[in-house]
Amino acid sequence: MKRFSSRALQRLAKRGINTTNSTKTTVAGDALHNAPQPSPYTKTYLDSLSNRMLFNYAAIGLCTLNKPILNLVIKMFPLIPTQVLDFFIGKIYCGGATPKEVIQTGEELSKRGINNMMLSLTIEDSEGTKNIDIEYIVSETIKSIDTILKPHILGLAESPDHEINEIPPGYIVLKPSAVISNPVQVLLNYENPEYKQQWDQLNENCARVVERVAELNKTLGKQYPERKSPFFVTVIDAEKYDLQQGVYQLQRNLFQRFNKVGDFVQVVGTIQMYLKHSFDMIKLEEKLARTHNYRVGLKLVRGAYIHSEPDRGVIHDTKADTDNSYNSGIQHVLTDLKENSEKATLGHLVVASHNHKSSRLASDLINNSTNQTFKSNVVLGQLLGMADDVTYDLIENQGVKNIIKYVPWGPPVETKDYLLRRLQENGDAVRSDNGWPLVKNVFKVYKHRLFG
Ligand SMILES: Cc1cc2nc3c(=O)[nH]c(=O)nc-3n(C[C@H](O)[C@H](O)[C@H](O)COP(=O)(O)OP(=O)(O)OC[C@H]3O[C@@H](n4cnc5c(N)ncnc54)[C@H](O)[C@@H]3O)c2cc1C
Repeated sequence: MKRFSSRALQRLAKRGINTTNSTKTTVAGDALHNAPQPSPYTKTYLDSLSNRMLFNYAAIGLCTLNKPILNLVIKMFPLIPTQVLDFFIGKIYCGGATPKEVIQTGEELSKRGINNMMLSLTIEDSEGTKNIDIEYIVSETIKSIDTILKPHILGLAESPDHEINEIPPGYIVLKPSAVISNPVQVLLNYENPEYKQQWDQLNENCARVVERVAELNKTLGKQYPERKSPFFVTVIDAEKYDLQQGVYQLQRNLFQRFNKVGDFVQVVGTIQMYLKHSFDMIKLEEKLARTHNYRVGLKLVRGAYIHSEPDRGVIHDTKADTDNSYNSGIQHVLTDLKENSEKATLGHLVVASHNHKSSRLASDLINNSTNQTFKSNVVLGQLLGMADDVTYDLIENQGVKNIIKYVPWGPPVETKDYLLRRLQENGDAVRSDNGWPLVKNVFKVYKHRLFG
């Protein structure tokens, strides 16, 4: 008779495998035992999704059955009514159109062990041609800290299921090209006196958001004095290479103004590690911060513009070089944070990646430390609807608590462009969990839910 240790029983129960019958094997049962057994049901990230989300994943599977089908869907994309897109795939990649819908998305993520969001109000105008209302974007972004991120984190902090230092911060994203009119010229001419007024306006628009973040961090810091990381953080997204010198200067100005020594990091900037200069850029930011006495927070990404970059020479020559650069960046920032804790110059890191090895590198460093300031200020992030298998592994197998999803939200017409990019990316990524395997796996989960 087969006996299981209690740890093995727990492991099997966690995977949904009933062990009670297996311990009662009889002689008659032995014949049955020798017959070919159906393979046991193994849980995957799909089991953590709601029925509605599973339906959306099946739709993605059907869109990515093969390259011609995907290309057809991409071609027809502009003709498909927004409501139809929203019904079939919108819920996977977008947090919703209203704060109420985004709060619900946050609650669903929490059930999966993803306890916060990096919120991005998606109204894009990178070419500066849509004449969008900048004041509306800035004020809605500030409002969303109070209407979405604040109730979300307070709900978790007040629940007995969460220890205050195991809740990641809520992030609020600022895409520099979306918070000033004529963004390309303003960012290209950031040192040109002719553009001073617009440059100052861009800095002020961002500063208004960080000010609200800093105020709330101060108030909640008094309510929860044992908290070792900020409750909210502003994030400056990285753009196309030619705009990046302006973006670096913008984030530097905000670091200097808001990231005070002896206090939480209130604003993090982004470095694209596929750029050949990226590692030197981290060291430069660190040096400037030490000289001028402020702190730096960073979000490290590999970089999203490799296909559209006109000067390919600025990007590492090979994927392996980008990978080395990314992983060295993580190690460099985390060495300072580990050695110097709350006194570290590089005081907060977001590892924004779908790469399993890079995520494991960061999670191993977190798991090997008992320093709570260090552990709470390293957060791993993936895009909503992408790399859910990586997110699931980090939570379920590596025990990572500090994990967030990048959640775009806003009017459906605006998020349509974002949806198209995600669909293209999903197809590009020729993944084993796309296409027919994804459809089959979704139906396996439905079957298991219905019949056990
Ligand atoms: C939370 C979050 C926030 C993000 N914010 C930003 C942002 O502000 N700005 C931005 O640009 N991107 C941003 N991204 C997107 C990010 O850059 C892409 O998700 C990332 O490039 C995909 O890489 P990966 O780390 O997931 O790893 P992988 O999938 O292992 O790597 C793919 C990446 O490697 C690089 N690469 C591929 N082939 C080569 C090659 N031949 N030579 C050199 N390099 C190569 C490219 O950057 C490519 O995208 C964000 C992503 C997340 C998850």
